[in-house]
Amino acid sequence: MTHKAIVIGGGPAGLMAAEALTRRGVAVDVYEAMPSPGRKLLFAGKSGLNLTHAEPFDRFLKRFGQAQPWLQPALAAFSPDALRAWVADLGIETFVGSSGRIFPVGLKAAPLLRAWLRRLGAAGATLHTRHRWLGWNDDGALIFGTPEGPVVRQADVTVLALGGASWPRLGGDGRWGDLLIARGVAVAPLRPSNVGFDGSWSEHFRSRFAGTPAKGVTLSFRGETAHGDVMITANGIEGGPVYILSPILRDAIEREGAACIFLDLTSDRTDDYLRERLERPRGKRTVANHIRQSVGVDGVKAALLRETLDPAAFDDPKRLAKAIKHLPLNLVATRPLAEAISTAGGVVRDTVTDGFMLRAVPGVFCAGEMLDWEVRTGGYLLTACFATGLAAGDAAADWLVDRRPTVEES
Ligand SMILES: Cc1cc2nc3c(=O)[nH]c(=O)nc-3n(C[C@H](O)[C@H](O)[C@H](O)COP(=O)(O)OP(=O)(O)OC[C@H]3O[C@@H](n4cnc5c(N)ncnc54)[C@H](O)[C@@H]3O)c2cc1C
Repeated sequence: MTHKAIVIGGGPAGLMAAEALTRRGVAVDVYEAMPSPGRKLLFAGKSGLNLTHAEPFDRFLKRFGQAQPWLQPALAAFSPDALRAWVADLGIETFVGSSGRIFPVGLKAAPLLRAWLRRLGAAGATLHTRHRWLGWNDDGALIFGTPEGPVVRQADVTVLALGGASWPRLGGDGRWGDLLIARGVAVAPLRPSNVGFDGSWSEHFRSRFAGTPAKGVTLSFRGETAHGDVMITANGIEGGPVYILSPILRDAIEREGAACIFLDLTSDRTDDYLRERLERPRGKRTVANHIRQSVGVDGVKAALLRETLDPAAFDDPKRLAKAIKHLPLNLVATRPLAEAISTAGGVVRDTVTDGFMLRAVPGVFCAGEMLDWEVRTGGYLLTACFATGLAAGDAAADWLVDRRPTVEES
């Protein structure tokens, strides 16, 4: 008996759902809006594809915060170890970086995606590109826009894996939200996650330092901290530690209009150490040389001090030491969703079954970033997309077995 399964969205979650269905002997058609699949995955590979993370699994799970109980079964079924084994099965070796992040050897996504598409094709998945899903018709069939005009396709089971709404030029635009809301599905507003923020740099600072990393900085905001390299942008800041704090910064800016974070420019030195060094006579040295030679703060970090402090602070070693450890920076806006690494919001937990089927639209499953969870960068995003894709694909196969009638029979 042949069942017609359709997966919409050819990203990591959709392709994994297709793999799960083919493993169960179900022929799958994958519909993708773009001329080729996996564009965000390939783009992620440009900066070094971080597939997953090697930290202990219970810590790994905690990164998902409130979404942990929801995603835990899927993540346990496709853990970071399972993901590595799966990638190895595609002929791609992985390695653990110094921070515990796991990458494919070569860091790129293209060899992985090529091998995966080959294997999916051989297993019975058929890919249809340039097919943008536009919704359902009155008979419940799927409507796609194509360069040749609209086409209609019936399916016994559908997996939606349409991604979030960041980087829309890579394919995902979040327009599925309205289509699902119209069918009674609860969708939390799509918001930027793992994103940069605007401050208010002077023209001098912007022109001189945009694009420069401030290395080894600890950011803190209301008891949360994150350490790493902060990238100065034309408008503000972005980069790893900024992304880690981005959910609470975004929420604070939404609520209060601004968020004041603090930068520790020399995390390995104490306040007392800095003060003692800065109090030493500077002789004929300029203030900038004195700060550089006595406490090693120079370049963009020294410029951040000048940008933020009034001139009198530079003659006050106590104030200066405090500022180096606790420099306030006012953030006034979250960068737009289109620029974010990922999307918060989406199809809410209560609206789907344990197998990610939409309660309001039986036979339609959801997977990947379009579900309402968010997590920091570090390989967690991709792991959860693969894992929920697998879970939704498996549940879709189960549902087909239980349901029986096929498109051909109906
Ligand atoms: C710059 C950047 C770097 C990143 N680096 C990493 C990283 O190193 N590690 C990590 O874990 N994560 C990373 N991510 C995040 C990761 O790429 C995403 O979380 C992941 O790709 C989401 O997978 P997905 O399958 O849910 O959605 P997507 O990958 O967005 O795939 C969705 C697919 O659906 C298609 N689609 C959308 N709407 C329709 C429609 N109406 N009809 C038909 N098709 C449609 C899209 O064209 C797309 O191909 C990065 C993201 C960015 C932007």
